[in-house]
Order: sequence, then C-alpha cells, then structure tokens
Amino acid sequence: MTTAMDINPEAELNAAILGWLQELAPQGLLITDQELRIRSWNHWLEIHGGIKAGEAIGRTIFEVFPEVDVARTENIFKRALKGEVQVVSSALHGCLFPFPSTVRESHFERMQQTARIAPLKAQDELVGTITILEDVTQRDWQTFLMRQQQERDQFLSWALARLLKTEEPEGLLRELFSRLHRLVNAEAYLNYMVEPDGKNVRLHAAEGWTPEQERMLLELEIGEALCGLAAETHQPLIFPRVQESHEPRAEGAKRLGLRAYVAHPLVLGEQLLGVLAFGKFRQENFAPEEVEFLSTVAQYLSIALDRTRREKALRQAQNELRAHAEQLEREVAERTESLRESLKEMESFTYSVAHDLRAPIRFLAGYARALLEDHGEELSAQASSYVNNIQRSAEKMDALTRDLLRYSHVSQEKLRLLAVNVVEIVTELMHGDPILSQDKVLVFEGENFPVIASPVLLRQCLQNLLENAVKFVPPDREPRIVLRLERRPGDILSPGRVRIWVEDNGIGIAPEFQQKVFGIFERVCDPHEYQGTGIGLAIVAKAMQRMGGSYGVESEPGKGSRFWLEFESSEF
Ligand code: ADP
Repeated sequence: MTTAMDINPEAELNAAILGWLQELAPQGLLITDQELRIRSWNHWLEIHGGIKAGEAIGRTIFEVFPEVDVARTENIFKRALKGEVQVVSSALHGCLFPFPSTVRESHFERMQQTARIAPLKAQDELVGTITILEDVTQRDWQTFLMRQQQERDQFLSWALARLLKTEEPEGLLRELFSRLHRLVNAEAYLNYMVEPDGKNVRLHAAEGWTPEQERMLLELEIGEALCGLAAETHQPLIFPRVQESHEPRAEGAKRLGLRAYVAHPLVLGEQLLGVLAFGKFRQENFAPEEVEFLSTVAQYLSIALDRTRREKALRQAQNELRAHAEQLEREVAERTESLRESLKEMESFTYSVAHDLRAPIRFLAGYARALLEDHGEELSAQASSYVNNIQRSAEKMDALTRDLLRYSHVSQEKLRLLAVNVVEIVTELMHGDPILSQDKVLVFEGENFPVIASPVLLRQCLQNLLENAVKFVPPDREPRIVLRLERRPGDILSPGRVRIWVEDNGIGIAPEFQQKVFGIFERVCDPHEYQGTGIGLAIVAKAMQRMGGSYGVESEPGKGSRFWLEFESSEF
C-alpha cells in the first residue's frame, strides 16, 4: 500500500503551502507576469481590497487600481522585473494600493502598508513579480498616538516653564495657541476674562475667527452661550456634533460653523478668572486625550494668571506704601522745619526778654537797696519790710533772668566739638568757687580721659552740677563731692565712650522725680530751704543734646545723688 506522501511528498507540501497562502495567510499575496498582469490574488487581498480574485486576475495593476500613481508604481515593479528585491515602507509611501483604512478611529483614510516586492523566477527564468503586502495601519496609528503624546508632554513642560516665568500670561496665550492647535486639531480658540463687575466675561485673546466673528464674540454674560455656561458652572464643557444640537445655548457656536467645541473655566479655588475655549471646524468631536490635555493647559494658565494678578496687586500695594511713606517723610520734614523755626524764634524772644528785663530789674533792686541804706531810719518798720520784699523779689527776678539768658546762650552758642580735658575744667571751676575750693569738698578719683565736647558747654554743665552738689545738702552736713571718669564700651557707630560722674552726699532725689528735674523750671525740693530757679539742669539737658551726648541721674533720697554726663571718647 502506498500513500499520497509516498508518491510525491514534495509536491503535496508545496500544494499545502500554496493553499495556505491563498486562503489563510495574514498578508496580501500578489503575483504578476512580466506585463504586470495579475496572476494570483489571495483571499486576504479579496477581503481588504474589496476585489474578488476573479475580477483581478488577468488584468494589469493599473486596470484594477486606476487611481494609483502610475509612474511610481511602474518604477517599483520594473525594478523587481530587473531582479531587485524591494521593501516599500508605509513611512515613505503610506500605501502601495489604495485599500480602505482598517483602524476606524485613526485619521488614516487608507490602509497603511509595507510591501515587499521581488522578482518571481521559475527554473531560473524570470516570469513576473511576487508582492507580499502587510497592513501596518494599527502600528502606525499607535506610533502616531505615542508621538503626539510625547509632543503634548513636551509642550506642557515648555508651556509650564514659560507660564511660571512670564509677567504677561495673556500675551503668551497667542504663542501657546500657535503650537497648541497642531496638537489638538482645533482651528480656533477663545480666551475670555472676567470683568471687574463679576457678571460678564470679555474677549481677551482669540484666533481662528474672522474679524466679524470676533466682534460678535466680544462680550458674554456669565451663563450666556456655551462659554458663559462653563463660566457659570465652573465645569468644563465638551460639546461634540454642534451642528446637530438642539441646545439653545449652542446656537451661537452653530452659527459660527463650529462642529466640536470645548470650554474650560479658568478657576482658582472658588474664584473664576476666565474661560479658555477651543473649536473645531473640520472634526465632529474632541478625543478624550485632547480634552484632558486642554484641561491641563487651562489649569496651568489659571495658576499663571493668578500668580501675575497677585504679583501686580503686591506691586501696587508696595508702590502705594512707598508713596505714603514718602508723603509722611515730607510732612515730618516740613513740620520739623517749622518747629525748628518756631523754636528759634522762641529762643531769640526769650533772650531779648531776659536781656531787656535785666536792666530795669537791676535798677529796682539797686534803688530798693539805696532806699534801705540811705533812708532806712526814716522808714517805719512796715515800710522797711515792704522795701525789703521788693529788693528780694527783684534779686530773685534778676537771678531768673540771668539763668534764662544762660539757657538761651546754650541754644545759641556756636558748637565747636573738640577733645577736652575734663579734670582741667573742673580744677578751674574749683579755684573760682569759695566752697568747692575748701579742703576735701571736691575730690577727683581714678583716671582722666579726654572727651569730645564743646569746652564752653561742658564747662557750663559741670558748673551747674557742682553748684547743685554743694547746694542740695542738709544744713548739718559737710558737702562731699566725688568726680570720677569711667570708660564705657562702645558699638560699631561709636567705638568708645566716657562717662563723667558727679557724686554728692546731699538730700537725694526720689525716683519719680529723677527724669523731671531736667525740665525747665522743675524744682522738687523745699523752695524755702533751697534757693534756685529750676533752670540749671535744663541747661545741662539742652547742652548735652546739642553736643550729642547723654545724661542722667541715679539717686537715693537722703543719701546723695550721682549725676552723669556721657560723651564720645577722643581716644579711639
Ligand atoms: P535749681 O538748682 O535752680 O533749683 P536745677 O534745674 O539745677 O534748679 O535743679 C532742679 C531741681 O532738681 C532742684 O530744684 C532740686 O530739687 C533738684 N536737684 C538738682 N540737683 C540736685 C542734687 N544734687 N541733689 C538733690 N536734688 C537736686
């Protein structure tokens, strides 16, 4: 017994392969003769090309596909007839034969093909061509989608970087859109911004419209039309197949000829900033990834708009604050100037009053004294006491006017600051004063340091302090005064300072009066027991202010006082 395989196994195998190629192969198989007349047309080609084998076989390629580019196709097949094996890829040619696309959602209208075309030989004789046709539409579509995703990602990071930096995100929109519309196939866009009244949105940037359309789109109420609706609800609005819609709010979009529309509100938290909308005139809808992409762009834009708004507000507030501070500074300067002027006027007034008053007061005192001395005996006891009172009052007034004059001298004295030897001044004062010059009344302790001061004013200050130290002592106590100089650490502005202490063993000053005594006419002692005008320490305060020094007192009632004056040291 023999089987078919036994008889001619090779012929059987070839027949099986051919059968498989004809009926089941997942590629197109096309065989032509040397005249490019089709000799074989497999089942795959029948299905995908929509042409039966019976219709194709016996006719040339160009008869079957009259729409192909004859020159190009002929060239490819002629090279095969010359013995060349070729691969015609979809990337270069798209398709060899115009078959319908196998991926409906893609933008390809035709099937994308890779074709392998080779010469067909029988017993070493060239008899025609053999072509294997592969459908690569799905692969190309996936590649396209991936590339588009990549481009969108690149665009987003580019846009984010720009939006984070820009001062004018509204201005940047135009540039964004020119790159963006390629990535979403939207031919037009609109950017509305909310008006200050919060009721309307106004067109801020737009592209892809005629001037007349733009005029129509200029302003919308919130809630009006599709853009207004997105603004009202703060929700993105996706509107496919606009032309088929019966929604009244889509009327405007319909009239504009739009076929698909997407509007994204620009919101930050609860606050509506505006709307960003995209329209398609050619396609009926936006793909989900396009919508998602546009929504990300809208979010970025919202953040950038919010940032620039805040920055603007901040800048404005800073400017206002600066203007206010400048205004304040001007006012303070004006007031200081007018205060300085009135102070000057007052000081010169005090001076002339004190100066002009002294002569008549002196006359008064002089005549009272002469009256008592020359005619004392003729006067009754009462009259003498009256004249006595007149004389005492006149002397008091004389002292007052003298001290006032000294006070105004301190204000008007020309300031000359130089290194001054404190102990030298005190020694001079001591020699000129009968009490201070007494043994042990004034002692100097420690080191002597020169200070930066006006010699005239410092002398005046020390004189007043020493006079007080001698004066404000209980009647049963011998005055004891210690003069000490202390070096004090400075700071960056004044490297070193010297404090002059004048310490006495007098009646002291209660803590609540220690500041007060430096005011003019302020006296805190018993006026019957201690004579004075209340001007001495005011002169000290004024002089110290003028010399740029500081002053103060530490004291305990009944135990004595320690007055101090502080100056810059001349030794640093
Ligand atoms: P006057 O000596 O003319 O009274 P001052 O202005 O020199 O005026 O002093 C103001 C007041 O400060 C004095 O009346 C006195 O009450 C108080 N005072 C000043 N120096 C001393 C001192 N060394 N001890 C106690 N009290 C003093």
